[in-house]
Amino acid sequence: MYNYVIVGAGFAGCTAAERIANVLNKKVLIIEKRNHIGGNAYDYFNEDGILVHKYGPHIFHTNNKEVWDYISNFTQWYHYQHRVLAYVDGQTVPMPINLDTINNLYNFDYTSDELNSYFESIRCNKEEILNSEDMVITKIGMELYEKFFKNYTKKQWDLYPFELEPEVIARIPIRNNRDDRYFTDKYQGMPKHGYTKIFENMLNNKNINILLNTDFKDVIDDIEYENLIYTGPIDYYFDYKYGKLPYRSLKFEFDTLDCEKHQEAGTVNYPNDYDFTRITEFKHLTGQRHYKTTIVREYPSSQGEPYYPIPQKKNTEQYKLYEEEAQKLKNVFFIGRLANYKYYNMDKVVEETLKLFYQTIK
Ligand code: FAD
Ligand code: UDP
Repeated sequence: MYNYVIVGAGFAGCTAAERIANVLNKKVLIIEKRNHIGGNAYDYFNEDGILVHKYGPHIFHTNNKEVWDYISNFTQWYHYQHRVLAYVDGQTVPMPINLDTINNLYNFDYTSDELNSYFESIRCNKEEILNSEDMVITKIGMELYEKFFKNYTKKQWDLYPFELEPEVIARIPIRNNRDDRYFTDKYQGMPKHGYTKIFENMLNNKNINILLNTDFKDVIDDIEYENLIYTGPIDYYFDYKYGKLPYRSLKFEFDTLDCEKHQEAGTVNYPNDYDFTRITEFKHLTGQRHYKTTIVREYPSSQGEPYYPIPQKKNTEQYKLYEEEAQKLKNVFFIGRLANYKYYNMDKVVEETLKLFYQTIK
């Protein structure tokens, strides 16, 4: 008899399991359909001994001290701050766009004030920000939008920015200074011994049992339990009764190269060239020293694992139908990127799960 069955062993499932087992001393069964814990944040040492992220590069960043302190119970940190370059017009320039991006791209020598005036002279006027295109062009105009955002977004989502909610591109700031960090959150870092170690530490409790390689629907009827926490795709839970929610997927192409370093930054984005969106070199992120280096190229795809909910109004409306069904259920909780159909970062998933634990479960 389990007090809680948890479907999915990602940040949502593991945070819930850890709190329930350690704070409430209750019995938990985690059911995970993959052959490992960690969800999309899973990492492992590849055959050359280089630590890589199986489902694409993950950098932990948050402004939420509670979340940072919570995760810090399970790991020490390598104090890494992510930097990204964009390959545009044959050169690599800082991304998000900052003072150096514009000066390098156009051979200008602007100060921050001059850059502000420049943006003011090229920006488009719109009464309302209705979509991701408006979000960019009202700050920096059409030309920069086309160089940095339009084609990257088309590749990533198979949609143009005008077809996506403003918050997609709002993730990327525009700066008038020389700050070239991808994130400016107060707390940032990489787990010193990898993400998978975090999950192992979280689940290290005799109250927690884990069933890998198992779809919960194949076993749930044979298990005695009081409550269910579900972190998989919400449409699958309800047998797609309101239709399939669209998700965007990625194919990852890993390459281990016979050189110590491949590129100048953790990630290089390719908005306009090639079919992949970006190349990440893991050693930049992890600080690992090795005579070889592993990179990953990300090819967006409509087929494959559901990684990204697609932020469009019609999808949110379809999700709401599922959410209403979910709210009618007693003792079943839906949490995480797939179950809430939200473009959440890891910290937000932990934040929401802690909220569920302290406000409802406990
Ligand atoms: P998941 O990690 O997806 O876990 C859900 C688990 O449920 C999965 O393991 C799945 O196998 C399992 N499951 C699903 N259905 C079933 C079923 N029927 N039966 C049993 N098990 C099931 N966030 C950041 O903060 N920083 C980053 O740098 C970052 N980079 C990212 C890069 C990429 C390429 C992607 C795709 C995401 C990135 N994210 C990043 C987001 C991050 O991956 C998510 O916020 C986080 O992993 C979500 O955790 P979760 O537990 O909600 O879901
Ligand atoms: N984006 C872009 N050009 C870039 C980087 C990002 O157009 O060089 C847009 C794109 O639509 C992308 C979104 O901004 O999906 C969010 O980017 P982020 O790097 O946060 O995406 P993630 O890491 O979640 O894939």
